[in-house]
Amino acid sequence: MINIATRINPAIAPAVSDVFTQLQGRHLVGNALVPAVAGATLDVIDPATGAVLAAAPAATADDVARAVESASAAFPGWAATPARQRGKLIAEAARVIAGRSDVISAVLALETGKAIRTECRGEVATAIDIVTMYAGLASELKGETLPFDPQILTYTSREPLGVVAAILPWNVPLVLMMLKIAPALVAGNTVVVKASEEAPFATIEMARLMAELLPAGVLNVICGTGRDCGSALVEHPAVAKVTFTGSQAVGELIYQTAARKIIPVSLELGGKSPMIVYPDADMTRVIAGAIAGMRFTRQGQSCTAASRIYVHSTLIASFIAQLKDALAKLVIGDPLDEATDIGTVISARQKAKIESYLALGERTAGAQVARCGEIPRASHLKDGLYLQPTIVTGLPEDSPLMREEIFGPVVCVQPWDDEDDVIARANDSDFGLAATVWTHDLRKALRAVQRLDAGYVQVNQNLTIQPNLSYGGFRKSGLGKEASLEAMLEHFTKKKTVVIDMR
Ligand code: NAD
Repeated sequence: MINIATRINPAIAPAVSDVFTQLQGRHLVGNALVPAVAGATLDVIDPATGAVLAAAPAATADDVARAVESASAAFPGWAATPARQRGKLIAEAARVIAGRSDVISAVLALETGKAIRTECRGEVATAIDIVTMYAGLASELKGETLPFDPQILTYTSREPLGVVAAILPWNVPLVLMMLKIAPALVAGNTVVVKASEEAPFATIEMARLMAELLPAGVLNVICGTGRDCGSALVEHPAVAKVTFTGSQAVGELIYQTAARKIIPVSLELGGKSPMIVYPDADMTRVIAGAIAGMRFTRQGQSCTAASRIYVHSTLIASFIAQLKDALAKLVIGDPLDEATDIGTVISARQKAKIESYLALGERTAGAQVARCGEIPRASHLKDGLYLQPTIVTGLPEDSPLMREEIFGPVVCVQPWDDEDDVIARANDSDFGLAATVWTHDLRKALRAVQRLDAGYVQVNQNLTIQPNLSYGGFRKSGLGKEASLEAMLEHFTKKKTVVIDMR
């Protein structure tokens, strides 16, 4: 059993430890917690201390086959269950998960290194909101009647696809899981989730609570590497749809396999989202918006991170000074500590990648790299994967720091003078996930919104994913939408046209 007693609220410490004990080497197939068929495991590390939290199963094609068989066997019964009944069961699952939110938040903080107060509790709450929203949309799985001919009854119906594979990353695993499985299940599909091998336990625990209310096999979660488990899942002949959130490189591989199988895919991939600050913007709100938008409390590990901030040249000096001051006040520390604003990054590999971008920034002529805040000094955190929020200025527009997704606490700040020029620079990216505009001049705001080529554009705010707001990127940020009714209908059902001659 892991020793977290000194770091966690004593009221929940035993329940949190129990989750790791119960899930040690096990994932969820047919409503049972089972080890991988070959018995192999992967250590999951606590990024705040470097200690092993527990081992996760290292699933292979045999585990994929078992999980997909379980989901296939459950499909006819679940698809035939009335939609409102499915919705009621999913709504009940939201209530059960809410009763365990403290424990799940702590498990998530331990395995991801994200701060419990600023990140993990909010993530669990949003995941529950999403489940609740989709549960209430069960009656919206309706078709249309078509005015084809008065003698011929013509209508459409929405039917589930079959077994859906949902492949998750580690950065916001619970929200991203629910964006996929809640609409898939409400629409009558059965699901095999592939949890991230870097942060699988909160995912499996949340799904386990949900699966207990559902017929066996309707919801399965397996854990393994992308190479041995994820690719086998996408390849499996009985998988009728793949919904994936993760990197562009893996998204491309999945798209190729899906093309060969001729099955639908939804892809939520990376981002390099611009934020444009106009001269009239309210600076206090802009600074708070930049910190929220860049997801600094998540160590910048967000696909929608506002990682390119263009500030009007009349404001840029004051913006940088105020942003530095505000970032220096954020507490970097143990993710489980209620005083902590910013926890760790996920892995040593990710930390090294972020540091290599910073080293490149430091080598770039004319660029300045400003690290803000203090790395924690406590001895038990000395091996933790902490990074300071960092502002990089003076970069050429074609620098890799400006063009590639760093997925760390690194924001690039650039000046602008001409509106046409800044919109062109904002749009000059392979990605098109999100964008934000800060001005109280309605004409400028609407002009910018119209011209920004991104899937999620906000003015004077920087919210994350919200239930019922269609979410999804343009260009290499992905394919398809999530979080809305449209997402459930378009991505988790197929439309049948029925034509009945009544003469
Ligand atoms: P990743 O692509 O490395 O892995 C994501 C998942 O895919 C993991 O479960 C992994 O095991 C699996 N996988 C890896 N190779 C596979 C293969 N060949 N076939 C099938 N599955 C495979 O991404 P990550 O490092 O876990 O997450 C970070 C990435 O996720 C970033 O690029 C980020 O932008 C992206 N992301 C996007 C969004 C969005 O909504 N657009 C949200 C969060 C994260």
